[in-house]
Amino acid sequence: MPAVKIADRFSSLQPSSMIKIFQAAAAVEDLSNLSIGEPDFHTEPGIVNAAAKAALEGCTHYPPLQGFEDLRKEICAYWKRHHGLETEPESILLTVGGLQAAHLCFQAMLNPGDEVVIAEPCFTAYFQQVENNGGVVVPVPSREENGFFPTAEDFEKAVTPRTKILVINSPCNPTGGVLTREQAGGIADVAKRHDLFVLSDEIYEAFIYAGKHVPLASLPGMKERTMTVSGFSKSHCMTGWRIGYAMAPAELLKVMITLSVSQTYGVNTLAQKGAAFALATQDEKVKARTAEYEKRVRYCAGRLNTMPGVTCPEPRGAFYLFPDISGTGRNDEEFAWWLLEKAKVAVIPGTAFGASGAGHVRIACTLGMDDLKKAMDRMEEALSR
Ligand code: PMP
Repeated sequence: MPAVKIADRFSSLQPSSMIKIFQAAAAVEDLSNLSIGEPDFHTEPGIVNAAAKAALEGCTHYPPLQGFEDLRKEICAYWKRHHGLETEPESILLTVGGLQAAHLCFQAMLNPGDEVVIAEPCFTAYFQQVENNGGVVVPVPSREENGFFPTAEDFEKAVTPRTKILVINSPCNPTGGVLTREQAGGIADVAKRHDLFVLSDEIYEAFIYAGKHVPLASLPGMKERTMTVSGFSKSHCMTGWRIGYAMAPAELLKVMITLSVSQTYGVNTLAQKGAAFALATQDEKVKARTAEYEKRVRYCAGRLNTMPGVTCPEPRGAFYLFPDISGTGRNDEEFAWWLLEKAKVAVIPGTAFGASGAGHVRIACTLGMDDLKKAMDRMEEALSR
């Protein structure tokens, strides 16, 4: 008998179709890579210097479990300044990426069989996190005509007596959708009516090109039933630093902190020092990058709409486009693999984000304008053949 006996519940664990494309794309020379969901910019040198300075000054010991207070104050000031959200340092927990925030929330809240209603297509790490913590995922398909979100009625229909948490992500990965105030209000009403908790992933809040970001927690009666997930990976190009946070009611954070003790015991001190500097000094840089992403998504959406069989709605947020490619006669998996082979352009099939992503692909505009132009030329050429 082999000594490595994997748990039964993980025995059929497979890499996602996203990972398969990543791996195949890595072997392609002269690739136009539109598959990467992270900023192409490096972290600003000022942020790196702040972390290095802290290291040299001896900030090298175990961190406070909830995160440094000065950083938690900066997070509060950021959300007040940008989105009018009132919150306090006690309601913030620093985590190892936004990912750990979500994981701890599911771990803290789910009993076996509890249902989590998730707007789909979505960042599918949530599916695994819910399932690994004994919960049941109930996907609610988005409607393209509703800005790529389910309607409040769609959510309402998915709710059962076992539903405990509703997950929503705006601006959305992969669709680029941005909730309007009215849509957010409709979702909040469903949550209140059925006494649900909401995990609101707002990690792309800085990148909005139409409308305004509405923090779910800022709506009446929502702060006490919402955990906002955010971080520095996207807004401040700090994916590799692995730092994010949760904003949530203190009674939830208390359990999440206790759970985190045996997992990570706090967040890298230097990442925290870099992040505090970032929030205090980088608003103009974030704004400039947002303008750059907007230029990119608008350019690519324009180009995509001239290609046979492809339609792309007006970009609204994040750095993603989610065009409908069903008019090309290929399904999204076939299309992504065909494009990689014929045009050396990597995109992610929509179904990698859940079944309702069928007929779409995710295009990440995380290349500079010259490289995006090359990618669009290649795609156009392959589709016109
Ligand atoms: N939420 C969404 C919607 C994401 O796209 C990502 C990263 N791709 C995350 C959360 C996690 O980000 P991180 O752990 O790097 O903070």
